[in-house]
This record gives sequence, structure tokens and C-alpha cells, in this order.
Amino acid sequence: MNDDELLRYSRHILLQEIGIEGQARIRASSALVIGAGGLGSPASMYLAAAGIGRLTLVDGDAVDLTNLQRQILHTADRIGVNKATSGLVTLSAVNSQVALTAVSERVGEAGLRSLVAAADVVLDCTDNFATRHAINRACVAQRRPLVSGAAVRFDGQLAVFDLRQADASCYSCLFPEGDAQDDLCAVMGVFAPLTGIVGAMQAAEALKLVAHAGRTASGRLLILDALGMDVRTVRFERDAHCPVCRAVARG
Ligand SMILES: [Zn+2]
Repeated sequence: MNDDELLRYSRHILLQEIGIEGQARIRASSALVIGAGGLGSPASMYLAAAGIGRLTLVDGDAVDLTNLQRQILHTADRIGVNKATSGLVTLSAVNSQVALTAVSERVGEAGLRSLVAAADVVLDCTDNFATRHAINRACVAQRRPLVSGAAVRFDGQLAVFDLRQADASCYSCLFPEGDAQDDLCAVMGVFAPLTGIVGAMQAAEALKLVAHAGRTASGRLLILDALGMDVRTVRFERDAHCPVCRAVARG
């Protein structure tokens, strides 16, 4: 680490749980952030500011006026611009030392698999269940840790699936496919700072995972009620009948 980096990351280096070694691990790591919206904005901004080595931001949508209430990566002059492209403008202004890649299209299963394989940690910042399950399948297959966030109305959720561990549960163990409805944000609304809170928690878990610091929320679902400002934690275990885990176990 050069003098500039020592200075830039000094407040991390001061933390005993991170230190120079943890910061070097962060710099040597690659994060895949899928979704450059309400969750992806703070998540990617903290990862870039904190000095992640490589960050790939994926989003096929364009910035819309209704996004600006919470999607702090984007600005009014970038309405109509692809969100991954717009996000990179902000992230490179925050930290030009991060190797940034924008994927400005919707990625299919094969594309996801190769993006996930190239990452050390995956952040699911999307808002639809079909994509969430596709991301989960890729992470299970490639054994990559998955940090999942959700925010709708005043309700936030955070879960970590450390799929590097052989006995880890996956997203599908917790939320079986076909159970839930889609894109609730557009219909039900979302409290702007809630996406910031949950996205920042996703960045925190991702940084801890790559820095080997502390204990992640693996095996626990955090449920945040931002209206009453209350957090509940629900423990969960691997579902022995989960089709996603079983498919991988069978190889
Ligand atoms: Zn599973």
C-alpha cells in the first residue's frame, strides 16, 4: 500500500479488526453488485469508498425521475442514461483506484454464472424474485457468498448466505421459488432512507466477508421495521428439500 492509500484508508487501518491486512484483503477482492437502484447505490458507494479492488455493477435499466428519491448513485442530468453507466460516473469520482466495470444489460443465467465466478462476494440489490433466484443458483453453483437485501414500504430485510461453507443454506431454502410477488416498490412505495440503511448493511457484510472481520449475518434474517425503528432477527437453517442446494450436492 502506498502513502496515498495508507492515508485514504487510515480510519479502517486504525480498526483492530481490519488493520492493514484486512484493508489489503479488501483491495485484493472483487465485488459483484447486481442492481444499481436503491440498494445498489449505497452498497456500491461504500464498497468503492472503502477501497474494494474491483467492482462490477450490473443494471439493464435507465435512470428515471422516480428513481432520484432514493437511488443516490444517479443525478437529474443523467435521466435516460443506463444505471450501470451512470453509477460508474459517481463511483469513479468517489475512488478512481477501484477497477470498475459496468454491465449495462440484463444478464441471463450463463452471463450471471461467469460474473459470479469472477467475484469474491455477490450483492443482490435487485427487486424481482426471478432475478433473485437466478443469482442464488449461480452463487450456489460457484460457491460464492451472497449478501441479499430487500426494501419495500418501511420494511427492510438483510440475509447473508455464505455458500463457501458446505452446509450453508441458500436464498431458496429461505424463500422457495414461486412464493412471492414481484416488483413491490413500484406499486407499494418505499421509504427513501430505508434503501440506504439496507444497502449500507449489505456493504458492511460484504466488506466483513472479504476482510475476514467479525461475524456476518450468515444463517440469520434481519427484519427491519423503519416505521417503528425496530429490528428482529430470525434464525434459519438449510432446507434438506431445497431443490437448488440438492442439485448442487448431487453435482
Ligand atoms: Zn437451498
